[in-house]
Amino acid sequence: MEKPYDAIIIGAGHNGLIAATYLGKKGKKVVVLEKNTFPGGLATRTEFHTGYRSPGILQDSSLLDYKVVQDLGLESKGLVIQNQRPEIMLLGRNHDEILLEQDAEKSVAAIARHSKKDAQRYLDYLQFIQDIRPFIQSVFSNMPPDLSGFAPGQVMKLGQLGWKLRRLGKATMLQLLKVAPMCVSDFLDEYFETDLLKSGLSFPALLGSFTSPRSAYTTLNLLMWDCRSKCYLPGGPAALIDSLLKAAESLGVEVKMDSEVKSIHFDDKNCVEGIALENGDTYLSPIVLSSATPRHTFFDLVPNYQLSFELEHDVKNYRSRGMTAKMNLALDRIPSQVKASIIRLGSDWATMELAFDPSKYRQIPEEPTLELSIPSLGDPQLAPEGHAVLSILAHHIPYNLEGGWTDAAKTTLSQAILSALDSYLPGISETIVGSEIITPQDLENNYGLTEGQIFHGEHAIDQILARPIPSCARYATPLAGLFLCGSGTFPGGGITGTPGRLAIEAIR
Ligand SMILES: Cc1cc2nc3c(=O)[nH]c(=O)nc-3n(C[C@H](O)[C@H](O)[C@H](O)COP(=O)(O)OP(=O)(O)OC[C@H]3O[C@@H](n4cnc5c(N)ncnc54)[C@H](O)[C@@H]3O)c2cc1C
Repeated sequence: MEKPYDAIIIGAGHNGLIAATYLGKKGKKVVVLEKNTFPGGLATRTEFHTGYRSPGILQDSSLLDYKVVQDLGLESKGLVIQNQRPEIMLLGRNHDEILLEQDAEKSVAAIARHSKKDAQRYLDYLQFIQDIRPFIQSVFSNMPPDLSGFAPGQVMKLGQLGWKLRRLGKATMLQLLKVAPMCVSDFLDEYFETDLLKSGLSFPALLGSFTSPRSAYTTLNLLMWDCRSKCYLPGGPAALIDSLLKAAESLGVEVKMDSEVKSIHFDDKNCVEGIALENGDTYLSPIVLSSATPRHTFFDLVPNYQLSFELEHDVKNYRSRGMTAKMNLALDRIPSQVKASIIRLGSDWATMELAFDPSKYRQIPEEPTLELSIPSLGDPQLAPEGHAVLSILAHHIPYNLEGGWTDAAKTTLSQAILSALDSYLPGISETIVGSEIITPQDLENNYGLTEGQIFHGEHAIDQILARPIPSCARYATPLAGLFLCGSGTFPGGGITGTPGRLAIEAIR
């Protein structure tokens, strides 16, 4: 048996490492236990074809919470962060394209080639995002209010929130309250007429949710992304992990790989007293923070007799349906049509809805909705010189596919993705020298994502503000000493680091 720690962190994804580093900074004795042989969780570099590496499962790291970078001194540990969001290319069929650049005037000129009205309205859209940004950022970067009681401090916080909302001005406040619960297709239809622009802008609204553009509240998902997306990491998410590991280790935090937690132990007063690993080792601590998914934490690691009926019921009903697959391609040249590191293949609402429909009935859509990135443009070491890594995020791919994720089903999925890709980037198939397909089932098996859900639980209006469930909405759980700190907590998934930072505030 090891000597006691002040805190044990389950999982060395970015949130687990951030929580550990904050605790290390407070002088606490901390150990991070990771089941994989590598740190970083979803942000880990992998070689998927000889000489070609993906920088991690995710493609866009523009949401990173800069307070984490500052507090933990990550720039002094080698993290390079640019204060601008990545350029995004919207690509339609027949070489239709719109490049959304940093410079709004250039984006306006690109949109004007499709519609002069949309070009003007794009400035209005950007203005709306800029106007509501302070409020959205404030809501999603601070501890969520405690809605369970009327303690004076909490009432004051709610009042402050209301005041911040009111300070947006009457027109902006009313517009925000009106549009947030809307479906993203109705919202964007109010602004624009060009299908390529509308469908391309809507992508973040679908990420990590069981929705299509015509589903309610998808506008909130879009606003949450657009208001917070503001930086670019040239080294990708793996560079964040490298800097976090350096920061953690410089503070004496122990990070142990190949250490799968089997169970969390409680004393006879029902307080956490430590954990046991699969290999039989045990670690003692009165505090355990889990960055694993809520369902895995409560249903696989906590003994069943510790769960009250309410807790078990709520966790069971926390929706976590995976809808995303990933494909990495090794290309023998950089695609000539590509003008940005993020490319959204745009169509129209009907095509996107048609992609969602089969997934509801556990089928693979004929034409999945695709977002591409070329991480090797930012980090040339990922591919041989002159070659490229193309990373594809395919939406509307069901975890619970009828008949299961057999080899034949994987081939069907790969073919559907490649055929859609070829219709936007003609000839791309001929440049492919290697590939990797990752289904929602693989995301569960290899990365511990319950049902392959990319954000540790769906982003839905009822699962964001009291996340994952009301009794755990402020990182503490009803079980004394057990805290959550991963993407299944407020403010949700994405490479923000905010859950890891805020979870520490919950520990007294
Ligand atoms: C396909 C895909 C695409 C995505 N695209 C984007 C994107 O473009 N932009 C974006 O911002 N976000 C994206 N995301 C979401 C983002 O990657 C996640 O929300 C985020 O990385 C989760 O970080 P985390 O630290 O909370 O958890 P994780 O990275 O999941 O880390 C949890 C860690 O806990 C470990 N663990 C689990 N159980 C145990 C156990 N019993 N014992 C020990 N260790 C355990 C796991 O191995 C893992 O390392 C994407 C996710 C996926 C899957």
